[in-house]
Amino acid sequence: MELKFKYSGRSIAALAFQAVTEQSEGTAHWMWMKELKLRPNIELFWWRLCNDAIPSNDFLFRRRLNNFSRCPRGCKEEENGCHIAGKCDKLRTVISILNGWGFQVPFFDNISECLEGLKKLVGKKSLIANMYCTTTRLVWKSRCKLIHDGIEDSVNSLAANAVSTSTVCNFINSYSDNWDVNQRKLFCSWHPPPPGWIKINVDASLLRNNVAGFGGVARDDKGRFLIAFGAKLMHWDIAQMELMAVLYLKNIIRDWMIEAQGVIIEGDNFNIIKILRLVMKTWKVSKIIDDNLAFLLDFNQVLFSFSNRDCNKLADVCANLALKKSFIWEDLSFEEIPPSFLFCLKEEYDL
Ligand SMILES: [Zn+2]
Repeated sequence: MELKFKYSGRSIAALAFQAVTEQSEGTAHWMWMKELKLRPNIELFWWRLCNDAIPSNDFLFRRRLNNFSRCPRGCKEEENGCHIAGKCDKLRTVISILNGWGFQVPFFDNISECLEGLKKLVGKKSLIANMYCTTTRLVWKSRCKLIHDGIEDSVNSLAANAVSTSTVCNFINSYSDNWDVNQRKLFCSWHPPPPGWIKINVDASLLRNNVAGFGGVARDDKGRFLIAFGAKLMHWDIAQMELMAVLYLKNIIRDWMIEAQGVIIEGDNFNIIKILRLVMKTWKVSKIIDDNLAFLLDFNQVLFSFSNRDCNKLADVCANLALKKSFIWEDLSFEEIPPSFLFCLKEEYDL
């Protein structure tokens, strides 16, 4: 009896200590989470998640308001904070789709790992952390739809919604952090942009006799061809040429590019991509931009992405074709389009 009393006494003290620790941890999470500048409803959702205040099946079961504690999606796991914030199959599928579009959103197994992981992304990859928080909230909202209306949002529409909700500002400079050197190893094929976006791949080619060509190709989120260009000139610096390919885009700007949700310009010269990101960053801070690049401000959003050469094959084909003569193709019916271009387009389209 005495032992039991002692035990329960310790237990109360331990519980009190735990409550205090949890509360301060909650506040600490709150400090960095504020820096993610989440939308108010997403911020509120995460505040509730951190404070065990989400009416999940597990939450309702513990309060005897429900006789079922598992995920209503059939995940065969208790639907608690850890499940909602990391382990639910639906959330994981949506994250996989986002990663297929080129984002590098992490996976987490429980809520503390998730909070620790997100905290590490603050400042460095805030967009990705924001995207994670947004996705989790959207997946929860869809789960509530399932409970109330018996129907859920599709994983593709959830992923598309997560991208447009988390990339609200005009120029997302933090995005640049997501395209780090690792991407060279991670991605070895061309990735389509998010729905509503356009991706323009650019590349340059140089012969020993200084005959040079640069070119590019724009495609939509389905990998469909939109426009391709190539220009021939005399030059000696391949990096400069790659920059010229980007500058050349102002000659082929079309209304549908300006109307698109955003444009991702992708090249395989890391230094040039770095320079261009810096240009956009400088613009955001000082509102100063080189006249030659001012046309980029016409786009709703513009991101620069570095890619492996293997992911940039079609632009490489354009640059090589430009060594013969300059061209602009607005659709695939142009008779001069060679089979090599069509073959490569088809290869990347099929991925
Ligand atoms: Zn689940």
